[in-house]
Amino acid sequence: MFRIGHGYDVHRLKFGRKLILGGVDIPNAMGLLGHSDADVVVHAIMDAILGALALGDIGKHFPDTDEKYSGADSIKLLECVCKLIDEKGYKVGNIDATIIAERPKLAGYIDDMRKNIADACGCDVSQISVKATTEEKLGFTGEMLGVSAHSVALLMKK
Ligand code: ZN
Repeated sequence: MFRIGHGYDVHRLKFGRKLILGGVDIPNAMGLLGHSDADVVVHAIMDAILGALALGDIGKHFPDTDEKYSGADSIKLLECVCKLIDEKGYKVGNIDATIIAERPKLAGYIDDMRKNIADACGCDVSQISVKATTEEKLGFTGEMLGVSAHSVALLMKK
């Protein structure tokens, strides 16, 4: 009836890259480095959803060696993942995600992220939680070398 999954992802921060989080283009001097748009929170969410059905991870479904995914819009990839679980007879119950970033302040973008993710998953925004925190200037997120994200997803049989 229920399946639960966990996802975790990290991307390196780099000057001159776009900062895309939850499908929102956030003005910032630094952005995340990656083969796709490097949307770290959407990647963690996809891994949580795939993990819930033991379907592997996003590296398996969208390999970074494939040119097709160069600069890919991760929200579109999330749509593909949700289509896949739909075919397996499941739907999203709820998703919770945490972004760990020293800067910029993300509070003003959270609701737009939740809406983008809910739209991709075909569910209501009330089923999607996104939170942001810092690690008090400690470690790689604190030193602004990178941004990480955790997520859990609960799936329900349709
Ligand atoms: Zn990633």
